[in-house]
Amino acid sequence: MGRYRGRFAPSPSGPLHFGSLVAAVGSYLDARSAGGEWLLRIEDVDKQRTQTGAAEAIRRTLDAFAFEWDGEVVVQSRRAPLYREALTRLRALDAVYPCACSRREIAARAPATAVDGGAVYPGTCRDGVTDGRPARAWRLRVPDREIGFDDRVQGEVRQNLARVVGDFVLLRADGPFAYQLAVVVDDAAQGINAVVRGVDLLDSTPRQIWLQRCLGLPTPSYAHLPVVTNDAGEKLSKQTRAAAVDPAAGSAALAAALRFLGHAVPSAVAAGSLADFWRWAIANWSMARVPARGGAVQGCPLPP
Ligand code: GLU
Repeated sequence: MGRYRGRFAPSPSGPLHFGSLVAAVGSYLDARSAGGEWLLRIEDVDKQRTQTGAAEAIRRTLDAFAFEWDGEVVVQSRRAPLYREALTRLRALDAVYPCACSRREIAARAPATAVDGGAVYPGTCRDGVTDGRPARAWRLRVPDREIGFDDRVQGEVRQNLARVVGDFVLLRADGPFAYQLAVVVDDAAQGINAVVRGVDLLDSTPRQIWLQRCLGLPTPSYAHLPVVTNDAGEKLSKQTRAAAVDPAAGSAALAAALRFLGHAVPSAVAAGSLADFWRWAIANWSMARVPARGGAVQGCPLPP
């Protein structure tokens, strides 16, 4: 592997919450302790989920915690031509096909529930759309065999895409490019060779690896960090109304994030300056300490 290049890729669907701070801290420390680069990408490809002003607020919050990113911030909503070009390449390879199925038709014929809770696509349009019906989406053909990778935190992961996902959508006629396509194109375009992110994306990784193979792109290493849940056991997100991280919370909040990732941060470091916190954290970071499973956070310095 060449020089380490990592990234943090938040979706601006709301302000930064403690769960995203954990992903930011983990990806940042892994990059900096390896003497590598850390890039920031705003994943706002889905306009419906994007909240006005949230990207700017995330940037300001990261700044307030003294995260330093390398290069320009990449903003997905400005990169549709790149995603379109990737889709054109996949069309030339016959790796994708147009699909006319409605959600209801898919649900009625689906052989199983998909890993993401949706329906496994039954393959109806694989060999062509019938009766000249209008195409609603472009789907990627997936193989009926296992795709595996060795996650640095979660261990070995294997998934048969045909069984648990089915041919999946890269572009909807009336919608944005899918996250799966955008993330693969951007990780490659930015030269990312180490992905550190929340375990909620573990199930998406085999789809991304398959897309990389179809497009002839390298596969980065993966580390999926435990995710923070609320007291009800739900992942912190806009949907579960997770509280915003206070940008002024300083080292105490960073220390809580790092403790969640299995590191015993001394109380003097948690009470000290941001510079002292980062110095200690970069010197002491070890992915080997990160637990595979998370849970609720005790004593997290956030507003109620
Ligand atoms: N934008 C995704 C999220 O905020 C993260 C994607 C990634 O790190 O690959 O959940």
